[in-house]
Amino acid sequence: MARIVMKFGGTSVANVDKIRQAALHIRREIDAGNQVSVVVSAMAGKTNELVAWVNEASKFHDAREYDAVVASGEQVTAGLMAIVLSEMGVPARSFQGWQIPIETDDAHGAARIENIDPSMLIDRMDKGMVCVITGFQGIYPPTGRITTLGRGGSDTSAVAVAAAVKADRCDIYTDVDGVYTTDPRIAPKARRMARISFEEMLEMASAGAKVLMIRSVEMAMAHSVRLCVRSTFDDPNAPQVTPDGVPGVPGTLVCDEEEIMEKQIVSGITLARAEAKITLRGVKDKPGVAAAVFGALADANIVVDMIVQNVSDDGARTDITFTVPDSDYDKAMRALETTGSAIERESISGSKGGAKISVIGVGMRSHAGVAASMFRALAEKGINIQLITTSEIKTSVLIDEEYAELAVRVLHTYYGLDKQDV
Ligand code: ADP
Ligand code: ASP
Ligand code: MG
Repeated sequence: MARIVMKFGGTSVANVDKIRQAALHIRREIDAGNQVSVVVSAMAGKTNELVAWVNEASKFHDAREYDAVVASGEQVTAGLMAIVLSEMGVPARSFQGWQIPIETDDAHGAARIENIDPSMLIDRMDKGMVCVITGFQGIYPPTGRITTLGRGGSDTSAVAVAAAVKADRCDIYTDVDGVYTTDPRIAPKARRMARISFEEMLEMASAGAKVLMIRSVEMAMAHSVRLCVRSTFDDPNAPQVTPDGVPGVPGTLVCDEEEIMEKQIVSGITLARAEAKITLRGVKDKPGVAAAVFGALADANIVVDMIVQNVSDDGARTDITFTVPDSDYDKAMRALETTGSAIERESISGSKGGAKISVIGVGMRSHAGVAASMFRALAEKGINIQLITTSEIKTSVLIDEEYAELAVRVLHTYYGLDKQDV
Protein backbone atom coordinates (compact mmCIF):
# COMPACT_ATOMS: atom_id res chain seq x y z
CA MET A 1 0.00 0.00 0.00
CA ALA A 2 1.24 3.47 -0.87
CA ARG A 3 -0.08 6.83 0.23
CA ILE A 4 -0.42 9.12 -2.77
CA VAL A 5 -1.41 12.77 -3.28
CA MET A 6 -2.81 13.33 -6.77
CA LYS A 7 -3.14 16.89 -8.09
CA PHE A 8 -5.26 17.78 -11.13
CA GLY A 9 -4.70 21.12 -12.88
CA GLY A 10 -7.23 23.38 -14.59
CA THR A 11 -7.34 21.73 -18.02
CA SER A 12 -7.64 18.32 -16.32
CA VAL A 13 -10.89 19.41 -14.62
CA ALA A 14 -12.15 21.81 -17.29
CA ASN A 15 -15.63 20.24 -17.37
CA VAL A 16 -17.55 17.36 -15.81
CA ASP A 17 -16.43 14.91 -18.51
CA LYS A 18 -12.79 15.72 -17.81
CA ILE A 19 -13.40 15.40 -14.07
CA ARG A 20 -14.71 11.89 -14.82
CA GLN A 21 -11.54 11.08 -16.77
CA ALA A 22 -9.42 12.35 -13.85
CA ALA A 23 -11.51 10.30 -11.41
CA LEU A 24 -10.62 7.12 -13.33
CA HIS A 25 -6.96 7.69 -12.40
CA ILE A 26 -8.01 8.02 -8.76
CA ARG A 27 -10.09 4.86 -8.93
CA ARG A 28 -7.11 2.97 -10.38
CA GLU A 29 -5.00 3.90 -7.35
CA ILE A 30 -7.78 3.02 -4.89
CA ASP A 31 -8.39 -0.31 -6.65
CA ALA A 32 -4.65 -1.01 -6.29
CA GLY A 33 -5.09 -0.70 -2.52
CA ASN A 34 -3.51 2.73 -2.12
CA GLN A 35 -4.56 5.62 0.12
CA VAL A 36 -5.32 8.77 -1.82
CA SER A 37 -5.79 12.48 -1.19
CA VAL A 38 -6.60 14.64 -4.18
CA VAL A 39 -5.89 18.33 -4.75
CA VAL A 40 -7.81 20.12 -7.49
CA SER A 41 -7.46 23.42 -9.34
CA ALA A 42 -10.31 25.53 -10.63
CA MET A 43 -11.67 24.70 -14.09
CA ALA A 44 -9.43 26.06 -16.87
CA GLY A 45 -10.00 29.79 -17.35
CA LYS A 46 -12.10 30.14 -14.20
CA THR A 47 -9.45 31.85 -12.07
CA ASN A 48 -8.71 34.31 -14.89
CA GLU A 49 -12.41 35.12 -15.07
CA LEU A 50 -12.63 35.64 -11.31
CA VAL A 51 -9.52 37.88 -11.30
CA ALA A 52 -11.00 39.93 -14.15
CA TRP A 53 -14.24 40.41 -12.21
CA VAL A 54 -12.36 41.63 -9.17
CA ASN A 55 -10.42 44.13 -11.29
CA GLU A 56 -13.62 45.24 -12.99
CA ALA A 57 -15.20 45.86 -9.59
CA SER A 58 -12.25 47.99 -8.51
CA LYS A 59 -8.64 48.34 -9.59
CA PHE A 60 -7.77 49.19 -5.99
CA HIS A 61 -9.57 46.30 -4.30
CA ASP A 62 -8.80 44.91 -0.86
CA ALA A 63 -6.55 41.84 -1.22
CA ARG A 64 -8.69 39.98 1.35
CA GLU A 65 -11.72 40.30 -0.90
CA TYR A 66 -9.64 39.32 -3.95
CA ASP A 67 -8.90 36.07 -2.12
CA ALA A 68 -12.54 35.60 -1.11
CA VAL A 69 -13.50 35.75 -4.78
CA VAL A 70 -10.67 33.92 -6.55
CA ALA A 71 -10.56 31.01 -4.06
CA SER A 72 -14.09 30.06 -5.11
CA GLY A 73 -13.07 28.31 -8.35
CA GLU A 74 -11.44 25.43 -6.50
CA GLN A 75 -14.46 24.96 -4.24
CA VAL A 76 -16.58 24.05 -7.28
CA THR A 77 -14.18 21.45 -8.68
CA ALA A 78 -13.53 19.83 -5.28
CA GLY A 79 -17.25 19.30 -4.76
CA LEU A 80 -17.78 18.03 -8.31
CA MET A 81 -14.85 15.62 -8.02
CA ALA A 82 -16.23 14.20 -4.75
CA ILE A 83 -19.65 13.74 -6.39
CA VAL A 84 -18.16 12.01 -9.46
CA LEU A 85 -16.01 9.70 -7.31
CA SER A 86 -18.95 8.76 -5.07
CA GLU A 87 -21.03 7.96 -8.15
CA MET A 88 -18.23 5.61 -9.29
CA GLY A 89 -18.43 3.83 -5.95
CA VAL A 90 -15.31 5.47 -4.49
CA PRO A 91 -16.06 7.02 -1.07
CA ALA A 92 -14.98 10.67 -1.25
CA ARG A 93 -15.51 13.97 0.54
CA SER A 94 -14.44 17.50 -0.43
CA PHE A 95 -12.55 19.84 1.90
CA GLN A 96 -11.72 23.52 1.60
CA GLY A 97 -8.46 24.92 2.90
CA TRP A 98 -10.00 26.20 6.15
CA GLN A 99 -11.65 22.86 6.91
CA ILE A 100 -8.36 20.95 7.14
CA PRO A 101 -6.94 23.55 8.02
CA ILE A 102 -4.16 24.62 5.64
CA GLU A 103 -2.69 27.50 7.63
CA THR A 104 -0.88 30.30 5.83
CA ASP A 105 0.58 33.71 6.60
CA ASP A 106 -1.47 36.83 5.82
CA ALA A 107 0.13 37.77 2.50
CA HIS A 108 -3.22 37.76 0.71
CA GLY A 109 -2.87 36.86 -2.95
CA ALA A 110 0.60 35.34 -2.42
CA ALA A 111 0.32 33.58 0.93
CA ARG A 112 2.81 30.97 2.11
CA ILE A 113 1.71 27.75 3.75
CA GLU A 114 2.94 27.59 7.35
CA ASN A 115 1.30 24.48 8.71
CA ILE A 116 -1.08 21.68 7.78
CA ASP A 117 -2.60 19.46 10.44
CA PRO A 118 -2.60 16.04 8.74
CA SER A 119 -4.63 14.17 11.39
CA MET A 120 -8.07 14.47 9.84
CA LEU A 121 -6.78 13.58 6.34
CA ILE A 122 -4.89 10.54 7.64
CA ASP A 123 -7.90 9.42 9.66
CA ARG A 124 -10.18 9.62 6.59
CA MET A 125 -7.65 7.91 4.30
CA ASP A 126 -7.22 5.13 6.89
CA LYS A 127 -10.96 4.60 6.60
CA GLY A 128 -10.70 4.22 2.81
CA MET A 129 -12.01 7.66 1.91
CA VAL A 130 -10.58 9.90 -0.79
CA CYS A 131 -10.14 13.45 0.55
CA VAL A 132 -10.63 15.96 -2.27
CA ILE A 133 -8.95 19.21 -1.27
CA THR A 134 -9.25 22.64 -2.85
CA GLY A 135 -5.84 23.71 -4.18
CA PHE A 136 -4.54 27.30 -4.17
CA GLN A 137 -6.15 28.34 -0.88
CA GLY A 138 -5.68 28.32 2.86
CA ILE A 139 -6.65 30.27 5.95
CA TYR A 140 -4.86 32.87 8.08
CA PRO A 141 -5.82 31.65 11.57
CA PRO A 142 -5.65 34.96 13.53
CA THR A 143 -8.31 36.54 11.30
CA GLY A 144 -9.96 33.36 10.03
CA ARG A 145 -9.85 34.76 6.52
CA ILE A 146 -9.33 32.77 3.32
CA THR A 147 -5.98 33.30 1.61
CA THR A 148 -4.68 32.29 -1.83
CA LEU A 149 -1.17 31.19 -2.68
CA GLY A 150 -0.50 32.99 -5.96
CA ARG A 151 -1.16 31.81 -9.51
CA GLY A 152 -0.39 28.18 -10.12
CA GLY A 153 -0.56 27.63 -6.36
CA SER A 154 -2.39 24.30 -6.43
CA ASP A 155 0.94 22.60 -7.16
CA THR A 156 2.18 23.99 -3.86
CA SER A 157 -0.97 22.89 -2.03
CA ALA A 158 -0.43 19.35 -3.33
CA VAL A 159 3.22 19.15 -2.29
CA ALA A 160 2.43 20.67 1.12
CA VAL A 161 -0.33 18.10 1.70
CA ALA A 162 2.01 15.33 0.55
CA ALA A 163 4.68 16.49 3.00
CA ALA A 164 2.13 16.78 5.83
CA VAL A 165 0.61 13.30 5.39
CA LYS A 166 4.07 11.81 4.63
CA ALA A 167 2.90 10.58 1.24
CA ASP A 168 5.04 8.15 -0.74
CA ARG A 169 4.40 10.20 -3.88
CA CYS A 170 2.89 13.42 -5.11
CA ASP A 171 1.65 13.02 -8.68
CA ILE A 172 0.96 16.23 -10.60
CA TYR A 173 -1.54 15.41 -13.36
CA THR A 174 -1.59 18.01 -16.12
CA ASP A 175 -2.09 18.45 -19.86
CA VAL A 176 1.42 17.31 -20.80
CA ASP A 177 2.90 13.90 -20.00
CA GLY A 178 5.95 15.19 -18.17
CA VAL A 179 8.59 17.88 -17.99
CA TYR A 180 10.13 18.56 -21.38
CA THR A 181 13.46 20.06 -22.41
CA THR A 182 11.43 23.15 -23.32
CA ASP A 183 7.72 24.03 -23.58
CA PRO A 184 6.46 21.42 -26.09
CA ARG A 185 3.88 23.92 -27.31
CA ILE A 186 6.68 26.17 -28.55
CA ALA A 187 9.16 23.57 -29.79
CA PRO A 188 7.56 20.42 -31.24
CA LYS A 189 11.02 18.80 -31.06
CA ALA A 190 11.08 19.13 -27.27
CA ARG A 191 11.95 15.87 -25.52
CA ARG A 192 10.32 14.51 -22.39
CA MET A 193 12.76 13.91 -19.56
CA ALA A 194 12.46 10.72 -17.53
CA ARG A 195 14.05 12.54 -14.58
CA ILE A 196 15.01 16.08 -13.69
CA SER A 197 16.88 17.26 -10.61
CA PHE A 198 15.20 19.52 -8.05
CA GLU A 199 17.82 22.21 -8.75
CA GLU A 200 17.18 22.21 -12.49
CA MET A 201 13.40 22.11 -12.04
CA LEU A 202 13.66 25.02 -9.63
CA GLU A 203 15.62 27.06 -12.16
CA MET A 204 13.23 26.09 -14.97
CA ALA A 205 10.20 27.05 -12.89
CA SER A 206 11.73 30.36 -11.84
CA ALA A 207 12.74 31.08 -15.43
CA GLY A 208 9.21 30.66 -16.78
CA ALA A 209 8.37 26.95 -17.26
CA LYS A 210 4.96 27.09 -15.67
CA VAL A 211 4.49 23.33 -15.55
CA LEU A 212 5.27 23.50 -11.79
CA MET A 213 5.00 26.49 -9.47
CA ILE A 214 8.46 27.41 -8.07
CA ARG A 215 7.32 27.20 -4.47
CA SER A 216 6.08 23.62 -4.98
CA VAL A 217 9.53 22.55 -6.16
CA GLU A 218 11.23 24.32 -3.24
CA MET A 219 8.91 22.57 -0.84
CA ALA A 220 9.35 19.14 -2.44
CA MET A 221 13.11 19.59 -2.22
CA ALA A 222 13.00 20.69 1.41
CA HIS A 223 10.70 17.85 2.51
CA SER A 224 12.03 15.15 0.15
CA VAL A 225 8.65 14.69 -1.50
CA ARG A 226 8.77 12.32 -4.48
CA LEU A 227 7.27 14.50 -7.18
CA CYS A 228 6.06 13.23 -10.57
CA VAL A 229 4.57 15.17 -13.48
CA ARG A 230 2.24 13.12 -15.69
CA SER A 231 -0.75 13.41 -18.01
CA THR A 232 -4.42 13.22 -17.05
CA PHE A 233 -5.27 12.32 -20.62
CA ASP A 234 -3.34 9.03 -20.71
CA ASP A 235 -5.41 5.86 -20.61
CA PRO A 236 -6.08 5.36 -16.86
CA ASN A 237 -6.10 1.59 -17.36
CA ALA A 238 -2.81 1.34 -19.27
CA PRO A 239 0.10 -0.45 -17.58
CA GLN A 240 1.91 1.94 -15.25
CA VAL A 241 5.47 2.07 -16.54
CA THR A 242 8.08 4.84 -16.37
CA PRO A 243 9.60 6.39 -19.52
CA ASP A 244 12.52 4.02 -18.85
CA GLY A 245 10.16 1.08 -19.25
CA VAL A 246 10.09 -0.19 -15.66
CA PRO A 247 6.97 -0.40 -13.46
CA GLY A 248 6.29 3.02 -11.97
CA VAL A 249 4.82 6.40 -12.79
CA PRO A 250 4.50 7.23 -16.51
CA GLY A 251 5.91 10.75 -16.42
CA THR A 252 8.86 12.81 -15.23
CA LEU A 253 10.29 12.23 -11.78
CA VAL A 254 11.68 15.31 -10.05
CA CYS A 255 14.43 14.00 -7.78
CA ASP A 256 17.86 14.51 -6.23
CA GLU A 257 20.75 15.03 -8.64
CA GLU A 258 22.37 11.79 -7.39
CA GLU A 259 19.47 9.79 -8.79
CA ILE A 260 20.23 10.93 -12.33
CA MET A 261 22.77 8.84 -14.18
CA GLU A 262 23.11 10.70 -17.43
CA LYS A 263 24.03 14.33 -16.79
CA GLN A 264 23.61 16.83 -19.60
CA ILE A 265 25.50 20.10 -19.79
CA VAL A 266 22.30 21.85 -20.84
CA SER A 267 19.06 20.13 -19.93
CA GLY A 268 16.41 22.74 -20.63
CA ILE A 269 15.48 26.04 -22.25
CA THR A 270 12.76 28.30 -20.88
CA LEU A 271 10.89 31.37 -21.99
CA ALA A 272 9.26 34.04 -19.84
CA ARG A 273 7.24 36.59 -21.80
CA ALA A 274 6.00 40.05 -20.94
CA GLU A 275 9.12 41.32 -19.21
CA ALA A 276 9.50 45.10 -19.01
CA LYS A 277 12.90 46.78 -18.85
CA ILE A 278 13.56 49.97 -16.88
CA THR A 279 16.80 51.97 -16.91
CA LEU A 280 17.87 54.68 -14.48
CA ARG A 281 20.69 56.68 -16.04
CA GLY A 282 23.18 58.78 -14.18
CA VAL A 283 22.42 57.70 -10.60
CA LYS A 284 25.04 58.55 -7.95
CA ASP A 285 27.67 55.81 -7.63
CA LYS A 286 27.64 55.62 -3.82
CA PRO A 287 26.40 53.26 -1.09
CA GLY A 288 22.63 53.18 -0.54
CA VAL A 289 21.48 54.06 -4.06
CA ALA A 290 20.57 50.50 -5.12
CA ALA A 291 18.91 50.00 -1.73
CA ALA A 292 16.78 53.12 -2.31
CA VAL A 293 15.77 52.10 -5.85
CA PHE A 294 14.86 48.51 -5.04
CA GLY A 295 13.42 49.48 -1.65
CA ALA A 296 10.92 51.73 -3.43
CA LEU A 297 9.94 48.84 -5.71
CA ALA A 298 9.68 46.35 -2.84
CA ASP A 299 7.45 48.76 -0.91
CA ALA A 300 5.15 48.75 -3.93
CA ASN A 301 5.15 44.90 -3.87
CA ILE A 302 6.88 44.68 -7.23
CA VAL A 303 9.03 41.63 -7.89
CA VAL A 304 12.22 42.56 -9.75
CA ASP A 305 13.86 39.91 -11.88
CA MET A 306 17.09 40.69 -13.78
CA ILE A 307 19.32 43.47 -12.42
CA VAL A 308 22.37 44.97 -14.09
CA GLN A 309 24.47 47.88 -12.82
CA ASN A 310 27.15 49.40 -15.03
CA VAL A 311 30.65 50.27 -13.94
CA SER A 312 30.77 54.06 -13.81
CA ASP A 313 33.21 55.85 -16.12
CA ASP A 314 34.20 58.56 -13.70
CA GLY A 315 33.38 56.92 -10.38
CA ALA A 316 30.62 59.48 -9.80
CA ARG A 317 27.59 58.27 -11.75
CA THR A 318 26.32 54.95 -13.08
CA ASP A 319 23.31 53.33 -14.81
CA ILE A 320 21.03 50.66 -13.34
CA THR A 321 18.79 48.46 -15.51
CA PHE A 322 16.32 45.86 -14.29
CA THR A 323 13.21 43.99 -15.37
CA VAL A 324 9.72 43.69 -13.87
CA PRO A 325 6.60 41.98 -15.24
CA ASP A 326 4.86 44.07 -17.94
CA SER A 327 1.80 44.18 -15.68
CA ASP A 328 3.85 46.02 -13.00
CA TYR A 329 5.56 48.46 -15.39
CA ASP A 330 3.29 51.47 -14.76
CA LYS A 331 3.32 50.83 -11.02
CA ALA A 332 7.12 50.57 -11.01
CA MET A 333 7.53 53.83 -12.95
CA ARG A 334 5.14 55.54 -10.52
CA ALA A 335 7.00 54.13 -7.50
CA LEU A 336 10.32 55.42 -8.82
CA GLU A 337 8.91 58.81 -9.74
CA THR A 338 7.14 59.36 -6.41
CA THR A 339 8.46 57.26 -3.53
CA GLY A 340 11.83 57.07 -5.18
CA SER A 341 12.10 60.80 -5.81
CA ALA A 342 14.99 60.92 -3.34
CA ILE A 343 16.95 58.92 -5.90
CA GLU A 344 18.86 61.45 -7.92
CA ARG A 345 19.23 60.46 -11.56
CA GLU A 346 19.67 62.03 -14.98
CA SER A 347 16.84 60.13 -16.67
CA ILE A 348 14.51 57.18 -16.37
CA SER A 349 13.32 55.18 -19.36
CA GLY A 350 11.85 51.80 -20.09
CA SER A 351 9.85 49.59 -22.41
CA LYS A 352 7.48 46.65 -22.19
CA GLY A 353 7.42 43.55 -24.38
CA GLY A 354 10.69 41.82 -23.62
CA ALA A 355 11.21 38.08 -23.30
CA LYS A 356 13.65 36.26 -21.07
CA ILE A 357 15.24 33.15 -22.53
CA SER A 358 17.18 30.91 -20.16
CA VAL A 359 19.49 27.98 -20.73
CA ILE A 360 19.63 25.63 -17.73
CA GLY A 361 21.79 22.67 -16.78
CA VAL A 362 23.80 21.36 -13.83
CA GLY A 363 26.64 20.66 -16.26
CA MET A 364 27.28 24.41 -16.44
CA ARG A 365 29.00 24.17 -13.07
CA SER A 366 31.88 22.31 -14.64
CA HIS A 367 31.81 23.26 -18.33
CA ALA A 368 33.09 26.55 -19.67
CA GLY A 369 31.65 28.23 -22.73
CA VAL A 370 27.91 27.55 -22.41
CA ALA A 371 27.08 31.26 -22.18
CA ALA A 372 29.41 32.10 -25.07
CA SER A 373 27.80 29.51 -27.32
CA MET A 374 24.33 30.78 -26.38
CA PHE A 375 25.28 34.31 -27.45
CA ARG A 376 26.84 32.99 -30.67
CA ALA A 377 23.73 30.98 -31.58
CA LEU A 378 21.52 34.04 -31.07
CA ALA A 379 23.92 36.30 -32.98
CA GLU A 380 23.87 33.92 -35.96
CA LYS A 381 20.10 34.55 -36.17
CA GLY A 382 20.55 38.31 -35.79
CA ILE A 383 18.82 38.34 -32.40
CA ASN A 384 19.98 41.23 -30.23
CA ILE A 385 20.63 40.65 -26.53
CA GLN A 386 19.54 43.49 -24.25
CA LEU A 387 20.49 42.12 -20.82
CA ILE A 388 22.36 39.11 -19.48
CA THR A 389 22.27 37.46 -16.04
CA THR A 390 23.73 34.20 -14.83
CA SER A 391 23.48 31.84 -11.89
CA GLU A 392 25.47 28.70 -11.14
CA ILE A 393 23.37 26.55 -13.48
CA LYS A 394 21.54 29.12 -15.63
CA THR A 395 22.26 31.83 -18.19
CA SER A 396 19.42 34.20 -19.07
CA VAL A 397 19.12 36.88 -21.73
CA LEU A 398 16.48 39.50 -22.36
CA ILE A 399 15.48 39.88 -26.01
CA ASP A 400 12.64 41.38 -28.02
CA GLU A 401 9.50 39.26 -27.51
CA GLU A 402 9.04 39.06 -31.28
CA TYR A 403 12.04 36.69 -31.51
CA ALA A 404 11.29 34.68 -28.36
CA GLU A 405 9.96 31.46 -29.88
CA LEU A 406 12.58 31.48 -32.63
CA ALA A 407 15.30 31.86 -29.99
CA VAL A 408 13.94 28.92 -27.98
CA ARG A 409 13.89 26.65 -31.04
CA VAL A 410 17.34 27.76 -32.21
CA LEU A 411 18.92 27.12 -28.80
CA HIS A 412 17.09 23.83 -28.40
CA THR A 413 18.64 22.57 -31.62
CA TYR A 414 22.00 24.19 -30.89
CA TYR A 415 22.43 22.30 -27.61
CA GLY A 416 21.43 18.98 -29.20
CA LEU A 417 18.17 18.68 -27.29
CA ASP A 418 15.92 17.99 -30.30
CA LYS A 419 13.98 14.75 -30.41
CA GLN A 420 15.34 12.67 -33.30
CA ASP A 421 12.10 11.36 -34.77
CA VAL A 422 10.34 14.65 -35.62
P1 ADP B 1 -2.11 22.91 -14.95
O1 ADP B 1 -3.33 23.68 -15.31
O2 ADP B 1 -2.30 21.44 -15.03
O3 ADP B 1 -1.50 23.36 -13.66
P2 ADP B 1 -0.19 24.50 -16.42
O4 ADP B 1 -0.79 25.16 -17.61
O5 ADP B 1 0.03 25.31 -15.20
O6 ADP B 1 -1.06 23.20 -16.10
O7 ADP B 1 1.21 23.81 -16.81
C1 ADP B 1 1.28 22.92 -17.91
C2 ADP B 1 1.82 23.66 -19.12
O8 ADP B 1 3.17 24.05 -18.87
C3 ADP B 1 1.90 22.82 -20.37
O9 ADP B 1 0.68 22.85 -21.08
C4 ADP B 1 3.05 23.48 -21.15
O10 ADP B 1 2.60 24.29 -22.21
C5 ADP B 1 3.73 24.36 -20.13
N1 ADP B 1 5.17 24.15 -20.07
C6 ADP B 1 6.10 25.15 -20.08
N2 ADP B 1 7.33 24.66 -20.05
C7 ADP B 1 7.22 23.31 -20.00
C8 ADP B 1 8.17 22.24 -19.95
N3 ADP B 1 9.49 22.48 -19.94
N4 ADP B 1 7.69 20.98 -19.90
C9 ADP B 1 6.37 20.73 -19.90
N5 ADP B 1 5.42 21.70 -19.96
C10 ADP B 1 5.84 22.99 -20.00
N1 ASP C 1 -6.57 28.09 -10.12
C1 ASP C 1 -5.34 28.74 -9.73
C2 ASP C 1 -4.71 29.44 -10.93
O1 ASP C 1 -5.24 29.37 -12.02
C3 ASP C 1 -4.37 27.82 -9.08
C4 ASP C 1 -3.86 26.68 -9.95
O2 ASP C 1 -4.50 26.35 -10.96
O3 ASP C 1 -2.83 26.12 -9.62
O4 ASP C 1 -3.72 30.09 -10.78
MG1 MG D 1 -0.24 24.98 -13.14
